[in-house]
Amino acid sequence: MDSDITFSIIKPDAVSKGYTGQILTRITGSGFTIAALRMVRLTRQQAEEFYYVHRERGFYRGLVEFMSSGPVIVMVLRKADAVDEFRKLIGSTDPATADRGTIRAEFATDVQKNAVHGADSPENARREASFFFPAIEIF
Ligand code: UDP
Ligand code: MG
Repeated sequence: MDSDITFSIIKPDAVSKGYTGQILTRITGSGFTIAALRMVRLTRQQAEEFYYVHRERGFYRGLVEFMSSGPVIVMVLRKADAVDEFRKLIGSTDPATADRGTIRAEFATDVQKNAVHGADSPENARREASFFFPAIEIF
């Protein structure tokens, strides 16, 4: 059952450009159901903790700055094989190389401001979901 959830964020660039509704429509239209959803503005410290795995990367500082720059939509999504299915739907990290029809190809600005986050494994999906939602709020 747990491999049926993934964790996603609609990032500050997409929220500020008014793409939230269109992105949610793409997600639910692709067979995902929303198990939890909230708008939140990450503190710098929360963004650092969320992306801790990337702390040695050159892009980490900029990424933390960007992710805490404005409100985001955090959500848990449900579908069979949710993690892989969602990564296919959003496309590759850099929108310049993302397949046509993917959410990043359509809505992202650049490799940093790439509109959406998707967990990369069922374990990380559970960890990231619990970062924002107690189990009782995941439906
Ligand atoms: N990122 C960046 N520059 C890069 C690579 C990644 O700013 O060269 C940012 C981008 O917002 C990306 C996030 O860091 O979504 C996490 O990187 P990861 O490699 O995990 O990509 P993802 O799993 O989001 O496709
Ligand atoms: Mg990743």
